[in-house]
Amino acid sequence: MTTLAGKVVFVTGASRGIGAVTTRILLEAGASVVAHFGRTGQGTEMLLETFGPDRMHPVHGDLARVGEATRLFQEAVAWKGRVDVLVNNAGIAPPLNIDAPLDKWSEVWAETLHVNLLSVAESCRAALLHYGEHGGGIIINIASRSAFRGDNPDAMHYAASKGAVITLTKSIARGFAGQGVLAYSVAPGWVKTEMAEAYLAEHAEELRRELPMGQAAPPEDVANTVVFLASGMVPHMTGATLDINGASYVR
Ligand code: NAP
Repeated sequence: MTTLAGKVVFVTGASRGIGAVTTRILLEAGASVVAHFGRTGQGTEMLLETFGPDRMHPVHGDLARVGEATRLFQEAVAWKGRVDVLVNNAGIAPPLNIDAPLDKWSEVWAETLHVNLLSVAESCRAALLHYGEHGGGIIINIASRSAFRGDNPDAMHYAASKGAVITLTKSIARGFAGQGVLAYSVAPGWVKTEMAEAYLAEHAEELRRELPMGQAAPPEDVANTVVFLASGMVPHMTGATLDINGASYVR
């Protein structure tokens, strides 16, 4: 297994789904992890019990609020004096149709862009300022297949937010490579988590036919990719997007 011993990794959205599994697998790979929890904070105690407070440090904050991403990154740095890898995983995908009243439509667009893009940009900014003083570091942003393929009419805001995450990550890779910064996007298709469960249950038969692998990916596929990228083993891959969609959308 890849060892991340000695690395400090900050993961957002660690309470469930991809973030929870990624946090566990990063810890198993030897990393010390600052695990961010949003509204629920679920899972904190179990991880603390298993790995201890020297390996796992929980932080809490609402990424729909301006300034939270910066505060959380600074809290993450304060734990051990540095962060080596930032994993922007927290995200939302509230369904929204064009016939929603305009105030509701605007509110959902704004919240989605805030959590999925502005907070990601804000924590990337904090990481870049920190990495500038520490000889570099790694940024891994969880995007989506929808950034490339587009999404259903009720998820246009979600796809737009993820498309912007990809271009943000590419710009960071190009602009900051000279300062030792590596930046990657990970673009999953369907993954078996709470975010996707209603859609996966409703469209089970159709997805069995449509997905070449017959089913959505387990969150472990994303987590193992994050561990690989966090290792920094292939620096010249910086700027790349790693697709995890079971060949449902081959670019
Ligand atoms: P999930 O199970 O719904 O979990 C979302 C995570 O984000 C939770 O830990 C949640 O924390 C956190 N979060 C949401 N809103 C937040 C807020 N305002 N402030 C702070 N934290 C917040 O989602 P998932 O499926 O694991 O998705 C993880 C990432 O993968 C997302 O970026 C998503 O877009 C992406 N993705 C998922 C799929 C899929 O099919 N599942 C496909 C492509 C990409 P709390 O619960 O503590 O609030």
